[in-house]
Amino acid sequence: MANQEGKIKVCVIGAGAAGLCAVRHLAANTTFEVTAYEQTNDIGGTWVYKEQVGLDDNGLPIHSSMYQNLSNMIPSTMFLVLLYRTNLPAKIMNFPDYITMEGQEPSCVSHQEVLNYLKDYAQHFDVHRYIELNTKVESVQFVSSDHSNQDKWSVQVRKLKTEEMELRYFDAIMVCNGHYFDPYVPTITGIESFPGLILHSHAYRRPDEFSGKTVLVLGAGSSGIDIGIDLSNQATRVYLSHNHDRLTSSLPSNMIQVAGIESIHETTFRLKDGTTVDAIDVFLLCTGYTYNFPFLDKNCGIKVNSNYVTPLYKHFINIEHPSMCIVGIPTVVVPFPMFHMQVQFFLALLQNRVNLPSKLIMLENSALKTQKKRHAHKLMDHQWDYNDSLAIAGGFDRLPLFYKLGYNAWSVQRSMNLLRYKDSKFIVSEDGQSVELVIPE
Ligand SMILES: Cc1cc2nc3c(=O)[nH]c(=O)nc-3n(C[C@H](O)[C@H](O)[C@H](O)COP(=O)(O)OP(=O)(O)OC[C@H]3O[C@@H](n4cnc5c(N)ncnc54)[C@H](O)[C@@H]3O)c2cc1C
Repeated sequence: MANQEGKIKVCVIGAGAAGLCAVRHLAANTTFEVTAYEQTNDIGGTWVYKEQVGLDDNGLPIHSSMYQNLSNMIPSTMFLVLLYRTNLPAKIMNFPDYITMEGQEPSCVSHQEVLNYLKDYAQHFDVHRYIELNTKVESVQFVSSDHSNQDKWSVQVRKLKTEEMELRYFDAIMVCNGHYFDPYVPTITGIESFPGLILHSHAYRRPDEFSGKTVLVLGAGSSGIDIGIDLSNQATRVYLSHNHDRLTSSLPSNMIQVAGIESIHETTFRLKDGTTVDAIDVFLLCTGYTYNFPFLDKNCGIKVNSNYVTPLYKHFINIEHPSMCIVGIPTVVVPFPMFHMQVQFFLALLQNRVNLPSKLIMLENSALKTQKKRHAHKLMDHQWDYNDSLAIAGGFDRLPLFYKLGYNAWSVQRSMNLLRYKDSKFIVSEDGQSVELVIPE
């Protein structure tokens, strides 16, 4: 795959955690020549909190869905207790080659700390010089193999400060554009009759705007639960409407779990169990996001159907053109360490240190194995075998054990105590063989 100078030219799209990780590994290997494009004026992606909603200063829709959460305090017996902001313990969010977020007590840290961590990581590995900020990738096309039988990609970028367009050619593409920027809004009968405020969690920032309101939050994923608790400090009442099993953890006294929505008539919401809730002022959709790769030309071969992205080998290698990967598709995972594994596997592939199986086998690997398409990339407990499989095939180190142990301890603690799990202390045993999350008295 190397060009005449012996270099493999790689384009990285996006400089969030995944893009930074890609650049860090590419830059460390002289085989690669790396260029990364980032449409905003900063690195960090999701972790760059923006107070404003709607359009960014660069005229593009705001990318980050991060909420402020600083005023997210609940009264405990004597003090105001901060509900911390990451929803995973910071210790297991570290990239394994740069473990500087201790997150010992409390285990979950603010989004600003995560952004600082990513900036330190970028500085430590000296990746800035490869990143072109304020540069949006507009289009990526596969260009048929030339005489040398090598894949090529054409990438058209727009310099947002000058409106200048530029066309560049690469040997490989790493798509790291993030997956939480395009809100998914389900079709709900009667939603147009609702006279109150409707917003998606993408545009939620802080609870004070909802003081004295009755809010119905739809969806009990990480954002729905987190935002519901955040809101309960200011809103009069919060209904958490969802179709999952009832949450067993205690919730704030003014936060009430109800069934999913059947239909809406003005301020009355009819629920799937036949009951209704009335006098809703705000309808907040925490219904997740749609995977979106607006810049990928059809000839890249990638299709998205209800968040099922195909055809991908191991959830990230483009089977049609394996010199392209999409980092970070799996859900219900610990993202940063998984990026670390996916990136190293892809680099090994580009350097022919990994052989892919036949196309038939890869397509079988990409086939839908879940009942619903939108669950196709949900890994949960399988994430550890998945990460190990990449390490074994790619010939690089597996993740240290504390990631898995920490995640398991967190899963238990979180489901039992949604109000306090973020305050817990992260304790690794001396022999490194066990992790405990202990909530302080
Ligand atoms: C509200 C919220 C809370 C979360 N909390 C946690 C948590 O506690 N712990 C955790 O581990 N994870 C959490 N996550 C998940 C988080 O998204 C991942 O951890 C990770 O930051 C994703 O990184 P990424 O690089 O894939 O995407 P992003 O961070 O979204 O970065 C993508 C980058 O690509 C750029 N880009 C997009 N399109 C283009 C283009 N066409 N041209 C150029 N640049 C482009 C964007 O501007 C952006 O900078 C949370 C997510 C959300 C939304």
